Amino acid sequence: RDPTVKKPEWLRQRAPQGEKYRMLQESLSELKLNTVCVEAQCPNIGECWNGGGGAGGEVDGIATATIMLLGDTCTRGCRFCAVKTSRNPAPPDPMEPEKTARAIANWGVDYVVLTSVDRDDLPDGGSGHFAETVKALKKLKPEILVECLTSDFRGDFEAVSLLVDSGLDVFAHNIETVRRLQRIVRDLRAGYEQSLSVLKHAKIHKEGMVTKSSIMLGLGESDEEVKEAMADLRAIDVDILTLGQYLQPTPLHLTVKEYVTPEKFVFWKEYGESIGFRYVASGPLVRSSYRAGELFVQNLVK
Ligand code: SF4
Ligand code: SF4
Repeated sequence: RDPTVKKPEWLRQRAPQGEKYRMLQESLSELKLNTVCVEAQCPNIGECWNGGGGAGGEVDGIATATIMLLGDTCTRGCRFCAVKTSRNPAPPDPMEPEKTARAIANWGVDYVVLTSVDRDDLPDGGSGHFAETVKALKKLKPEILVECLTSDFRGDFEAVSLLVDSGLDVFAHNIETVRRLQRIVRDLRAGYEQSLSVLKHAKIHKEGMVTKSSIMLGLGESDEEVKEAMADLRAIDVDILTLGQYLQPTPLHLTVKEYVTPEKFVFWKEYGESIGFRYVASGPLVRSSYRAGELFVQNLVK
């Protein structure tokens, strides 16, 4: 972290609690599921797993969890991300879609985000593997809501279509930062236009497809640049936006340029909703999948 920028009080993490959180935590150990929520020690785990229903002891909230597919080693190396990287990660486990679907179906979560590292080594970038997981899961538990938070598949529209046709409810791909900072923040194989083209393709490939993206703040972007990025996402009809504070994972990663205040995050939520996003989740600790199920049901299910 840049020693001149002090970490503020509002980023302090709270201990998770709540009835549904406890139920999910207890049943997780037998299922061998690789949740990002636990592995990354996400500060939102109490809120996401309780799904808004657990704070007072009720258990009827829409619980969200994020599951990692395709291994723990990425073929790219973004300068904000602490995931392990390699040119040749281990091949995917062909049984993973079925095994993961079974575990999720038995777990009791209502909205699942399936995500993965980038797999530029695979011909379809892992799209087929995602699609099989969604299909297997929807077969076992049709009522579960599924979001896929994917790579850009190197701009391969066939790979995007394959996934969009799998039966998922939300297609998510993050632009991560404003246009000017793309090359500083993301791997050089990623890019602003490529990411927008993937989101646009997902939207037009299937009528009614809900699309979603995310931007990290605090990397040195100006307000005008954030507005431009939001306008670019709206121009291709992205429905949902999340905004959170960038936090430096290790001293080798990009430094934080600014801690954006909670009030400013509220401003961005209101601004985003005023230009047509169906909802915006915006806050210092908000991550792409923050309370995704609860917010989806509140805002998109009529
Ligand atoms: Fe899990 Fe995502 Fe919620 Fe964090 S924000 S607890 S990773 S679902
Ligand atoms: Fe991390 Fe994704 Fe970048 Fe890979 S592509 S380094 S997982 S942010």
